[in-house]
Formats: sequence, structure tokens, C-alpha cells
Amino acid sequence: MTVKKQSVEDLLGYNKFNADEKNPHIVIDKALCAQCTDKPCLVACPAVLYRQKGENSEVTFDHLGCLECGTCRIVCHNHGNKGIVKWDYPVGTFGISYRYG
Ligand code: SF4
Ligand code: SF4
Repeated sequence: MTVKKQSVEDLLGYNKFNADEKNPHIVIDKALCAQCTDKPCLVACPAVLYRQKGENSEVTFDHLGCLECGTCRIVCHNHGNKGIVKWDYPVGTFGISYRYG
């Protein structure tokens, strides 16, 4: 039997999301993020939801596609940064449903 190795993107594609577009469960303050020197969220988020186009560009974040792992909250606040001003799990039936694993 041959097992096909799948990329992280392929595996994430199995997940099912019920997106709460009006009530983001994670909110960042871009002004505070601008003062953050190392910006660990850019490399720590497994779903790559924190982005920065250029070195001096603002950090952007999209809560849709969040895996609810909590990594961003830990790396942000543990480094003394305060850019994440809200981190909650999605309400009710919203958020991720894992299909595998
Ligand atoms: S909780 Fe996890 S997947 Fe969601 S934004 Fe934070 S690091 Fe990314
Ligand atoms: S680690 Fe926190 S403060 Fe720094 S860029 Fe990311 S969300 Fe903003």
C-alpha cells in the first residue's frame, strides 16, 4: 500500500469552519503591534493568519481559519507584547470542526 504524503495546507483543508464573521474571537491592536519588535506571531501561527507584507508594513490578522490552538496568545503575551487585545474561543456553534486528528 502506498501512503501519499500530504502537505500541511492539504491537511488543514480537511477542517470545517463555521465562521462568525461579525464577532471575531481574536482581535489585535495594530498600533501596539507596530511597537512589537520581534513579532513572534508571524512565525508561530500554524495557520499563518498573522501577516506582514514588508518589514515596515502593519501586521494584519484574519480570524477566519483559526485552529483555536492558543499559540498566538502565548507567544504574544509571554514576550511582553500586548497586541492581542481579545482572545476567546468562538461562541456557540462557530469555529473549527476537526475532520482528522
Ligand atoms: S489560535 Fe492558533 S491558529 Fe488561531 S490565530 Fe492563534 S496561533 Fe493562529
Ligand atoms: S506578537 Fe502580539 S503584539 Fe507582536 S505583532 Fe503579534 S499580535 Fe502584535
